[in-house]
Amino acid sequence: MTQALLIRGGIVVNADRAERADVLCVAGRIAAVGADAAAQAPAGAGVLDASGQYLLPGGIDPHTHMQLPFMGATTMDDFFTGTAAGLAGGTTSIIDFVIPDPQEPLLDAYRKWRGWAAKAAADYGFHVAVTWWSEQVRADMGTLVQQEGVNSFKHFMAYKNAIMCDDETLVHSFQRALELGAMPTVHAENGELVFLLQQQLLQRGITGPEGHPLSRPPAVEAEAAQRAIAIADVLGVPIYVVHVSCAESAEAIARARARGQRVYGEVLAGHLLIDDSVYRHPDFATAAAHVMSPPFRPQGHQEALWRGLQSGQLHTTATDHCTFCAAQKAQGAGRALGVESENAPQRDQLAGEKWAAAAHLQPTNPKPDQLPDFTRIPNGTGGIEERMAVIWDAGVNTGRLTPSEFVAITSANAARLFNIYPRKGCIAVGADADLVLWDPQGHKTLSARTQFSKGDFNIFEGRSVRGIPSHTISQGEVVYAQGDLRVEPGRGRYVPRPAFGPDFQATQRRAELLAPTPVQRQKL
Ligand SMILES: [Zn+2]
Repeated sequence: MTQALLIRGGIVVNADRAERADVLCVAGRIAAVGADAAAQAPAGAGVLDASGQYLLPGGIDPHTHMQLPFMGATTMDDFFTGTAAGLAGGTTSIIDFVIPDPQEPLLDAYRKWRGWAAKAAADYGFHVAVTWWSEQVRADMGTLVQQEGVNSFKHFMAYKNAIMCDDETLVHSFQRALELGAMPTVHAENGELVFLLQQQLLQRGITGPEGHPLSRPPAVEAEAAQRAIAIADVLGVPIYVVHVSCAESAEAIARARARGQRVYGEVLAGHLLIDDSVYRHPDFATAAAHVMSPPFRPQGHQEALWRGLQSGQLHTTATDHCTFCAAQKAQGAGRALGVESENAPQRDQLAGEKWAAAAHLQPTNPKPDQLPDFTRIPNGTGGIEERMAVIWDAGVNTGRLTPSEFVAITSANAARLFNIYPRKGCIAVGADADLVLWDPQGHKTLSARTQFSKGDFNIFEGRSVRGIPSHTISQGEVVYAQGDLRVEPGRGRYVPRPAFGPDFQATQRRAELLAPTPVQRQKL
């Protein structure tokens, strides 16, 4: 059991208010907040001086991919190193993704991922992807919700010929999620359009990473977001759109909300700060390192996303942390750019490779092995370690967000939507003692050379931020202190998430009241 810890003199920031208060942590939970915290502290309790600093709920990153398997290799960060990097950045919980192969039973995939995650250093949960449909999938969704504490399902509308959901699967799965009180989530990109545009660009000779954003323009995302939102509207189920990257999708969400629909949007730290000029970088590796989907957008979209967060039309921030290294990214470089032939993946091996899909690769037809092919660059970037600091720096320091609004979009809203509030995302008696002591004057220059993440690239390289975590507390234990990370594999816990969060209770009531009735007619 962890020692009791008293944190004195900080400004406690919750999503609804900020006030100076002491906080006492005992046995991994918050035991007292305010004037009596010091009085209640047991003898021998550790003391942390928080004067001049904010005390925030630990960050929740609701979108990560640790240890994502790919062609016998995996992303650089596994569940230990990825969650450890998160702790160094003030993030104390993640929700990762179980991604079954088409035809793979959901429960088999779920058990596989639970095994991989056992070494996590911070608390975690899972969204489970529905990549195909059958009666078995329907049954497994029930088991996951009712017995395993999964309350959200992911649907990829992109990645044709791999894990893409057609409308039939979307409709079945959304309906089932509604019955179970679980949140459907979507990766909104029209996979048919992406596939067609990729082929056209390659034929045109645009084979480098600059083809990536051209194959996935904002309209491709907006179409899918609108379609998913419309399906959810007809079925009367809430919906959560992951990584909203462009103004068009943000507007689709705002319009639906104005019509009274329960629609939620997630924004990635990278999409708030980086534009699509990175794909025209003359160095292949640098351009390829930014390949992720949806891509970084032209200038202007970033400001639209900030406005979505400011107005409350977008709700959570995440990273899609998915760290493929330069050698893995080089699969899209082709031999002509110097990939050693013995290390170069075989085209036919790639094309049907089952994990091509999960690694966000788009299987295409085998072609001569000479030219770069942007469709073969594994999609993914890092960011779990930087998310809190870059959003504070660009959000709070600029006056776009108050500290309380920062807490809402970095932890509290995710906890509410995925129904683990106030255990997570809140500094209150009884909550988990997951906290970050935030030094608003602390400076740092972000770099791959100094990051804890095992990724070999940093999309925020060279960016200076003001406002960084000085200490991170997980389960009442100081796990990060002024650059010193003290974590062991396996200290993280699986956090079950109950079904039928508040949204579903309201939705159910609404459906009962508005249920259609037949006309009673006299028999002839
Ligand atoms: Zn993702």
